[in-house]
Amino acid sequence: MLNNTALFRQACYLNGQWVDTELCLTITNPVDQSVLGTVPSLTVADVNRTIEQAHAAQTDWAAITAKARAKILNRWFALIEANVDDLGTIMTLEQGKPLIEAKGEIHYAASFVEWFAEEGKRVYGETIAQTVNTNRLSTIKQPIGVCSAITPWNFPAAMITRKAAPALAAGCSIIIKPASETPFTALALAELADQAGIPAGIFNVITGDARTLGAPLTQHPLISKFSFTGSTQVGRTLYEQCASTIKKTSLELGGNAPFIVFDDADIDKAVTSAVQAKFRNGGQTCVCVNRFYIHDAVYEEFLEKFAAQVGKLRVGNGLEQNTDIGPMITRRAIDGMQVLLDDALAKGARQLVLGNEVAEQGNYINPKILVDVNDTMDIVHEEIFGPIATLIRFQDEDEVLAQANNTIFGLAAYFFSQDIGRVYRVAEKLESGMIGINTGMISNEVAPFGGVKQSGLGKEGSRYGIEDYLTVKYLCVDIA
Ligand code: NAP
Repeated sequence: MLNNTALFRQACYLNGQWVDTELCLTITNPVDQSVLGTVPSLTVADVNRTIEQAHAAQTDWAAITAKARAKILNRWFALIEANVDDLGTIMTLEQGKPLIEAKGEIHYAASFVEWFAEEGKRVYGETIAQTVNTNRLSTIKQPIGVCSAITPWNFPAAMITRKAAPALAAGCSIIIKPASETPFTALALAELADQAGIPAGIFNVITGDARTLGAPLTQHPLISKFSFTGSTQVGRTLYEQCASTIKKTSLELGGNAPFIVFDDADIDKAVTSAVQAKFRNGGQTCVCVNRFYIHDAVYEEFLEKFAAQVGKLRVGNGLEQNTDIGPMITRRAIDGMQVLLDDALAKGARQLVLGNEVAEQGNYINPKILVDVNDTMDIVHEEIFGPIATLIRFQDEDEVLAQANNTIFGLAAYFFSQDIGRVYRVAEKLESGMIGINTGMISNEVAPFGGVKQSGLGKEGSRYGIEDYLTVKYLCVDIA
């Protein structure tokens, strides 16, 4: 199935070496739970050793120029692009998303490597007007040191490169623990990092029990910065663990995105964008819509057109052509959605009958639309993380803004309006780190990705993304 079987690695990449252990984790295909392979289950001692090696290697990496680092990163970028078919296949096998989406994610992942290779050359210090005539004041920026990261299963490639690329471009080393459902994409990226000539110890991928490995990654004194993407619940725990050694911390956590359609919106555009923003990756993205707020005057039109498009979505194996929605990552994820669904139905929501019913077995679930939803229902407050759309009617702007902001989360929000005054009013009042206005697709490497409230801390991608891997040092020179 792969053109280059060397990309399918069942070992950890530590200090430039492929390391195996007797104790393993078994990785399965979410389509049918068939075994794909195994990866090592490392111990705390293995991780501590890797951290020490990453620390030793980082000094030399920081000492070469940003331009020299960019050359190596650009080789990594080119290798990722050249292997997009195999990387996409590995991702679909372990994660389930349709192959076209998996390949799209590989391009997205590669874009961070290309972007930060260049951004590394644009790290500027500054001079500051002195307060005493005989002083000269300036700042320099330096790599923060050894970094660690823990990433989720829903974007097995992009969440790795969105952290590793700025770290490496800045002159840091990094140790990454990918999600246990999807380690093979991360290990394939490590194989390509090795081929690109990234020196031993600079980019490391570890696998094993999350709690066991999470302890040294968040508490080892040689780690200067920790970056996490995952659920808010786990993020809170890891943030606490980082407190013991006062690590610089970035958190990209859960969301509860509202999608508001005003009565002056282009409804056809809103419907197409709604389908993309809700059902991409089977609804399993942190920026997926969780709540649709539709103005009373356009509600029926929106619902009719939306239901028609959702009814055409095809559920199936991501490797099959024409699949729009692959399997959910685990059966447990579907059970969690069922609890939310049951609560909503018991409190008066109605589930529409759509045309695309496949047998709901294993990890397959049909896309669903719930109407008559209100904020007494848990589904409005919790991240659904699956293909269930919830629709709520509203009458006016202030009312819908209050409802949209009534959440602990603040990652992405979307709204549709053609009134320029409303566009600015609503964009300024939505409590969210990222806002899609008349679009449901907002992610790219050049724009700052990140949330407010309990959706996280810090920005990834963009010119801000490298700052988290740098420290500002102030120099005060007396010239008298
Ligand atoms: P998760 O359960 O929080 O797991 C994420 C990662 O944390 C995995 O690698 C997991 O390892 C690890 N982990 C879990 N418990 C841990 C512990 N006690 N100590 C150390 N590590 C631990 O989240 P998920 O289900 O994989 O991903 C979905 C969540 O990620 C959603 O909430 C989504 O919104 C969020 N997300 C956010 C963004 C963003 O940029 N804001 C992007 C993508 C996803 P194991 O796999 O080994 O358990």
